[in-house]
Amino acid sequence: MIVVVPDSPSSQRVAQAIDYLRKRQIETKSVAWGSQTMLVTKQNLTSTDMNELKAKGIAERIVVSSSRAPLTSRDLQNDTSIIEVGNARFGAEKIVIVAGPCSVESREQLMETARAVKKLGVSVLRGGVFKPRTSPYEFQGLGEAGLKLLAEAREETGLPVVTEVLEPQKVDLVAKYSDMLQIGARNVQNFALLRAVGKSGMPVILKRGMMTTIDEWLQAAEYILLEGNQNVVLCERGIRTFERATRNTLDLAAVPILRKATHLPVMVDPSHATGSRELITPMAKAAIAAGTDSLMIETHPRPETALSDSQQQLNLTEFADLMKELDAIAKAVGRSVR
Ligand code: PEP
Ligand code: MN
Repeated sequence: MIVVVPDSPSSQRVAQAIDYLRKRQIETKSVAWGSQTMLVTKQNLTSTDMNELKAKGIAERIVVSSSRAPLTSRDLQNDTSIIEVGNARFGAEKIVIVAGPCSVESREQLMETARAVKKLGVSVLRGGVFKPRTSPYEFQGLGEAGLKLLAEAREETGLPVVTEVLEPQKVDLVAKYSDMLQIGARNVQNFALLRAVGKSGMPVILKRGMMTTIDEWLQAAEYILLEGNQNVVLCERGIRTFERATRNTLDLAAVPILRKATHLPVMVDPSHATGSRELITPMAKAAIAAGTDSLMIETHPRPETALSDSQQQLNLTEFADLMKELDAIAKAVGRSVR
């Protein structure tokens, strides 16, 4: 249940609504939503209370939602949210391509990639600097030095940049150098981190966890929205199943399921989903056919030398070929990629 309170500079109405509900033993959490305030309650209101709140002009709209993540649901907002990051508009007709290396490794590697993907019509540059590696002996990322390189690449190409943040204490630092924060699969239920990126107000890519149901994933997104941050893109990146022929199993049915359940834009990452170079193009095409709003693709000038995820990164020629193939599929479904 959500009560939307009309905007009032004195916020008198908000206080009035909270007071009205408290007297009825209904606890609320107030959430900033654009220029309005929403009061989210766990309990349902009686029809008498709903009518009175509206009649007295305290509440503009009351949404009864049975969703466990009501702020993400289409009960609250029927139109797909458009999330703007630089010139990219996630959720709009143009499919947003996010591309770049798995890890930022050096100035040369990042700049070469950034210039190439920019020329190919990519609208957001990615690159990990805090890497969530399975083994502590593997490359952990360049840290702040990598953030500075991302900011340099943005400065030169004009491309907005997205990078992963691993811990709540680092949100401010990562936000200082980037345009969008990524929460990786391994942190999808790190609730302190979800709250921290929510408070930051920065656009967020929330990846699905390897063992996260769609329902749990939407509830994770709800943590971010509940902090007043509506700028969340949900990224399907494969889940762990018994199949070992691919790194993970890409759950493409998640795309139309999310489309129906949530107003948040959807992204697909065929790189981490398959872990294998030759599967990226077919799965990216399938994701567009399934209705994704965005794709995340790992690309590296020399994948064979990459310090992480070497098997799944396309070289820049392969990436250019991929973009050509995506043009045709996007056109077939009434969209475009550049
Ligand atoms: C990544 O995108 O760099 C990454 C680590 O992905 P995931 O969290 O999906 O494994
Ligand atoms: Mn990677």
